[in-house]
Amino acid sequence: MNGKSEKKFLTDYRVNFGPDGNIISVEIGCCGQRIGELRYKDGARRSCPLCGCVHNLIIQHNHFHLRRMPPGESEA
Ligand SMILES: [Zn+2]
Repeated sequence: MNGKSEKKFLTDYRVNFGPDGNIISVEIGCCGQRIGELRYKDGARRSCPLCGCVHNLIIQHNHFHLRRMPPGESEA
């Protein structure tokens, strides 16, 4: 709990492309910090050490999702 002051919990996804245009990885920023990098692979996930949110990469046919799940809601 941080009292009344509302912090800016910046979430940022940066997608890295290779020279041939393929996605290689996704860098994740959360809580205004860079928390790590996901390999571009279905099911890759990384949790934020600050807020505990889990960032999950889901790859489907011709697109992908990046989901940010609050702690506790990240069921298997
Ligand atoms: Zn966070």
